Amino acid sequence: MVTLGTASAAPGEIDTGRLEVGESRDGSPIGLPVAVVNGSRDGKTLYMQAASDGDELNGVGVIQRVVPQLDPGELSGTILICGIVNYHAFQVAEHRNPIDDTKMNRAYPGDASGTSSERIAAATYDAAVSADLVVDLHQGSTSRMIEEVRVRCGSRHRLHDECLELAKVFNCGYILDQKGPDGQLARAAPDEGVPTIDPELGGCVGWDEESIQAGVDGVFNVLYHYGFLEGQAAPVPQARATGFEQYGSPVGGLVDFQLDLGSRVSRGDTLFEVTDAFGTPKAEITADSSGILWRTRRLPQVATGEYVCSLGTNIDTF
Ligand SMILES: [Zn+2]
Repeated sequence: MVTLGTASAAPGEIDTGRLEVGESRDGSPIGLPVAVVNGSRDGKTLYMQAASDGDELNGVGVIQRVVPQLDPGELSGTILICGIVNYHAFQVAEHRNPIDDTKMNRAYPGDASGTSSERIAAATYDAAVSADLVVDLHQGSTSRMIEEVRVRCGSRHRLHDECLELAKVFNCGYILDQKGPDGQLARAAPDEGVPTIDPELGGCVGWDEESIQAGVDGVFNVLYHYGFLEGQAAPVPQARATGFEQYGSPVGGLVDFQLDLGSRVSRGDTLFEVTDAFGTPKAEITADSSGILWRTRRLPQVATGEYVCSLGTNIDTF
């Protein structure tokens, strides 16, 4: 039997259940929805999770499309899934856990006797590091973003090559290969010897079908490549950024982007203009480096200093 929370599956079985992580304010138990897909043959263990940031729903869409397609009788190995990590934020469609105002993907590896977010991180971290591979499904929150996969362990980490291989197999077309901040699952789990990626499936409010499909394809590529299922992943060369530049507005007004997401940018190219309410140009902002337009704000209105867009830089092909 393989068990995660109350989900328990013998070889060839699938089960769903709850992973208890304490109680809500009314004293009722909180259980994260979990699933165990136990293959009829031996193989690796994959751990997947979604909605660690509570407004990032594309990963939830991926999991609820992938799971019904899985036949444990056809599977070699085991898939452990936590479908919704940030329980409290998900309830209210917010990014951060409102109980402790924390971003869950800064709370790993967590603390079983800590804050709300630390306890949820600890419970899901235990499952993650029991696996051979980890896929932590994210997106660029509600901003607009390309579909890409992040490798967060840093280029000098002993597991860097394995994380990069997993990222390439997921095959979104773009990889951000840059050491992440403390507390990210994709930064912490490689320290326990588990290759981990953080696919960032676009960015939207609610669900975006194209990004969800990229995630579904990515998960199946992983299942084929690592021998969970018979089949062939055919990853194409990925555009890899090892740098990331953020741009803010020098003035207040309305942003007009000059380029589409995913555009190649040369140093000096105009990224965006800011106009006033009557259409009068106030500022034109150019790229400090060459790269790829990676992420943009969704709403046009900006105050001085407010975030506008990001460029992936130091691009190579991997
Ligand atoms: Zn996220």
